[in-house]
Amino acid sequence: SKQAGRNRVTFFSAEMGALAKARDLVEVELKRAIENREFTLHFQPRFCFKTGTVISVEALVRWEHPKRGLIMPAEFISICEETGMIEDLGQLILEMACMKAISLHQEGRDIQISLNISPRQFEDNRLLKSLETFSRHPDFPRGKVELEITENVLIGDHELIAKKLEAISDMGYQIAIDDFGTGYSNLSYISRFPLNCLKIDQSFIAQLPKSGPIISLILTLAEQINATIVAEGVETREHFEWLRNHKCDQAQGYFLSHPVDAEELPHVIETLNSG
Ligand code: C2E
Ligand code: CA
Ligand code: CA
Ligand code: CA
Repeated sequence: SKQAGRNRVTFFSAEMGALAKARDLVEVELKRAIENREFTLHFQPRFCFKTGTVISVEALVRWEHPKRGLIMPAEFISICEETGMIEDLGQLILEMACMKAISLHQEGRDIQISLNISPRQFEDNRLLKSLETFSRHPDFPRGKVELEITENVLIGDHELIAKKLEAISDMGYQIAIDDFGTGYSNLSYISRFPLNCLKIDQSFIAQLPKSGPIISLILTLAEQINATIVAEGVETREHFEWLRNHKCDQAQGYFLSHPVDAEELPHVIETLNSG
């Protein structure tokens, strides 16, 4: 009936009002959290099939909320992206990740760290300056810090984007395309930009073996452009074996290890390296 319809509308808008309010609260809290540096990095190993060892780890941000405990990025990254707070948070993450790479290098550990750069952070002018500062650190491990960007970062002025990526690459950073195959479908960028790595989105791995043909295609493409290929979301032995048999370079996923904190990381790496 008309009445019920009207009630439904009222119900939904009340709910949306509550949601908007909750979001405002999170926004205020996030601002404070960034000022207080309430964030930490967890690390997920990337296993290399050829060496049988962990040669890289992905840094994944966590919010250490004083009352709520650990909060996952799904709850705050998009809010940070939409409000622009990702620029400050991204700077914080970049600093934590580069300092981690430097300390690993100082400990004599030959491990790459990759970190996620959001589209808005990629446009932030401070990014290049910070990257340059860290690259000049005497213990900066050249070639051992990788930036993961998504395909939507590459939409826009290709000449400008190419210049930026080349500058980043010249400073000694690696560049990976994250969630490959899910974004921008115009593949012409592939040969235009300096790309070191393609990370096949986990949705393709989840659909193995049905998605085999498309994964094979991506593997061939990566080989053509001399890029490392990483499979994300490797959850089962079947996924792992399929990828090994098809000459994928690296695997990342729950089958190997969940993301762990900095304290647990050495043990997890040791276990994977000796297993
Ligand atoms: P992503 O960059 O694609 O990261 C992979 C996500 O998949 C991580 O979730 C990871 O824990 C999860 N994952 C790993 N292995 C498996 C698996 O076998 N199966 C499944 N189903 N999932 C797996 P997380 O840490 O919750 O991060 C979610 C997303 O949040 C990331 O997706 C990334 O887009 C964003 N994010 C995380 N950390 C950062 C950061 O430091 N900066 C920025 N800008 N974004 C970040
Ligand atoms: Ca990523
Ligand atoms: Ca990904
Ligand atoms: Ca993703």
